[in-house]
Amino acid sequence: MANFNTHLNGAFMVSGVMSLTVYKAGLIDDSGFIMCVVLGTIGGLLPDLDSDNSTPIKLGFNLASFVFAFALVMHWRSELSLLALMALWLAGYGFMRYVVFYIFTTMTVHRGVIHSVPYMAILGLGLTYLSYFVLEISLTASWFYGLFLFGGAMVHLLLDEMYSVNLMGMRMKRSSGTAMKFYQHKDKWWYLLLYVILALLLYFAPPFESFWQQITDPAPWTKLKLGVLPTMIENRL
Ligand SMILES: [Zn+2]
Repeated sequence: MANFNTHLNGAFMVSGVMSLTVYKAGLIDDSGFIMCVVLGTIGGLLPDLDSDNSTPIKLGFNLASFVFAFALVMHWRSELSLLALMALWLAGYGFMRYVVFYIFTTMTVHRGVIHSVPYMAILGLGLTYLSYFVLEISLTASWFYGLFLFGGAMVHLLLDEMYSVNLMGMRMKRSSGTAMKFYQHKDKWWYLLLYVILALLLYFAPPFESFWQQITDPAPWTKLKLGVLPTMIENRL
């Protein structure tokens, strides 16, 4: 297993380079660029969060609950009455803080479940949902946010995988199995639940085709190619 600093640096470097690339291609704006770096870095720390580090998790969840409740109220601010908004605020906060948090902590007890590809995919997609449907951020930015969170988590799992092989090329802990986990028989019911949630999230996800069209459009990449090297004038100076 790679340590905290390795994960922090690894995820920061990878998401930094990737964010800069999509930023230079003109696919995200200034604030989107910063968000992608931050989310990718957070993603790189997520798989190791378990009930042992309960304080940062609680703090994070309190914050997430506030943001979620606030976003709900902002979303419906003109349609609902003040009283309804206050009820919505409380309900949104309570839902995140108690229901989602409860499910999250129950799952993290089963460490193998959170330290897995499907769990991280759910978190990434969940962020895309929140950003697109609730915060009403653009489709492209929403998909990038989810993908960066997920990508950071994948860097984490990859690093763990690499560190489980020592310099002699031999596995140190054969028993621990692979870090890039998709399924584990002893947690089969948890994995079944994860894949059901993931399937539902994928089915109702914000339109992926238009995002895909946008990132496969050659124009931004031509722009990027022009931006890779210093311009001719700078070269001459
Ligand atoms: Zn790990």
